[in-house]
Amino acid sequence: MYWKYFLYVVEHKWNVFIEHLKIMQPIERRIMSDFKFYLQELNSEECRCGSWKKKRMSFCFVCYRKLPHDMQKDLYKHMGQGYEEAYDEACKFLEEL
Ligand SMILES: [Zn+2]
Repeated sequence: MYWKYFLYVVEHKWNVFIEHLKIMQPIERRIMSDFKFYLQELNSEECRCGSWKKKRMSFCFVCYRKLPHDMQKDLYKHMGQGYEEAYDEACKFLEEL
């Protein structure tokens, strides 16, 4: 009797676990690929405009100077703490210039 209940629990939990994986995986994969993207941008020596930029800087000096002061400041945020949003916003701003 109990083993049937035990099997039910195992099966049910397993299904929950699988459902969880199905939901979590794409999101986590996206976060990881986003993270890699921003890291690559930071470590590259080419600005998105094609000019040379310093490693660990988001943009070359020319692009950086075009940004409003607030946006420049936001680029000093850490990854996962607003940097991604700041970078995207800065890119959008530079595209619209
Ligand atoms: Zn640039």
